[in-house]
Amino acid sequence: MPPTILVFSVFLDFLQEGIEKIKDPRSESNGTKFKISDAMLSAFSMFFMQCQSFLEYQRQLQSRSGKNNVQSIFGVEKIPSDQQIRNILDLISAKSLNAVFEKVYKFLQMGKHLKRYERLDRNLLICLDGTEYHSSSKISCECCSTRNHRSGKITYSHTAILPVIAAPGCEQVISLPPEFVTPQDGHEKQDCETAAAKRWISKHGHLFEGQAITLLGDDLYSRQPMCQNCLEANMNFIFTCLPSSHPSLYQWLDYIEKNGEVQNLTTKHRKKSIEIYSYRFVNQIPLREQEPSLLVNWCELTVRNSVDNSEVYRNAFVTNHAVNIDNVAVVVETGRCRWKTENENHNVLKTKGYNLEHNFGHGQKHLSSTLLSLNLLAFLFHTILHLIDSSYQEIRRKRGTRRGFFQDILSLTKYFLFKSWQHLIDFMLDEAPVFADSC
Ligand SMILES: [Zn+2]
Repeated sequence: MPPTILVFSVFLDFLQEGIEKIKDPRSESNGTKFKISDAMLSAFSMFFMQCQSFLEYQRQLQSRSGKNNVQSIFGVEKIPSDQQIRNILDLISAKSLNAVFEKVYKFLQMGKHLKRYERLDRNLLICLDGTEYHSSSKISCECCSTRNHRSGKITYSHTAILPVIAAPGCEQVISLPPEFVTPQDGHEKQDCETAAAKRWISKHGHLFEGQAITLLGDDLYSRQPMCQNCLEANMNFIFTCLPSSHPSLYQWLDYIEKNGEVQNLTTKHRKKSIEIYSYRFVNQIPLREQEPSLLVNWCELTVRNSVDNSEVYRNAFVTNHAVNIDNVAVVVETGRCRWKTENENHNVLKTKGYNLEHNFGHGQKHLSSTLLSLNLLAFLFHTILHLIDSSYQEIRRKRGTRRGFFQDILSLTKYFLFKSWQHLIDFMLDEAPVFADSC
């Protein structure tokens, strides 16, 4: 583990290095008053501090004291206006930030911080799940997906796959580069989530060389082309498999169950009352009716309350992991962990301060997606600090609630100048009644 004091600055270096590599698309005659890095880092700081007024507070601090915390904590030379930030970011593709996510992943991998996320014979679990973060009948850009209604109305939307590393029992999820569902060059058809997922695998598969990966996804993913795509990329999969979308697989299952070839396991678990876990599983079953069909391994869990025999939970999965009596519970538990993307990722991003669905600015081309990537990076940085930075862990524990912590850092930086992020955290941890220094 690196010295605690370095964690935030290491990640800020990754972000600054990534931004420095972005080619400025503005012509010189177009006026380049503000640097791309100032626009990018200013927007990032707003997401990191979880306050849309953060930059305005810092402009006020600048006019009062000649200095500000966006400069000292985030390395911005001069804070652009909100409109200037939007104008610049609209020109920059969100793809240019993918390298920052990749660097953070490599850092965590080298530091062995991801070991706790491995399951099923050292497989790192990656949940793939799409989420819509913009929908409007009025606001649109050239990267919007469109839905034409019979009434003649058009809905414009943005959806992204936000892959995360997750594992049962691990509270935090770790964001990987997003992939946007957006009209593709040379394709007339609307883009879709599974096509975006396949692009994600081919773009980022190299990142996981030497690391076994199991991809997790909902029923949308358990189709043959997607499963084949995973196997061709040397990745394993556990995808939800509903009877409604796989009728022929379930017909096969009925047939072989009558022949006694489906195996069963029952276990008891003490929750509020005793719950009965009934597993069924079979290996090498055709995924679809159409030939050639991939042979997959199928497992199902039904949970019943022992008191009234009511069904508490039921779900089934297909996987390429061989399922047996010893590992069926782990395979199912791993497949069920996909809900984490909704609970720990989408829900936190949408409702807990990051306001993913809020329109921070839409622009003509890239703004909406580039802002989303910066917001995700802010979430990732806080997650990593929470995971490996002891002073951050201590302040979060002391402060109790997420909201309380963010209120504190916002209030402090509104009135006081801090030399760095660590200076701010150390100040908050210092229980002696002192005032922050003026820088
Ligand atoms: Zn748009």
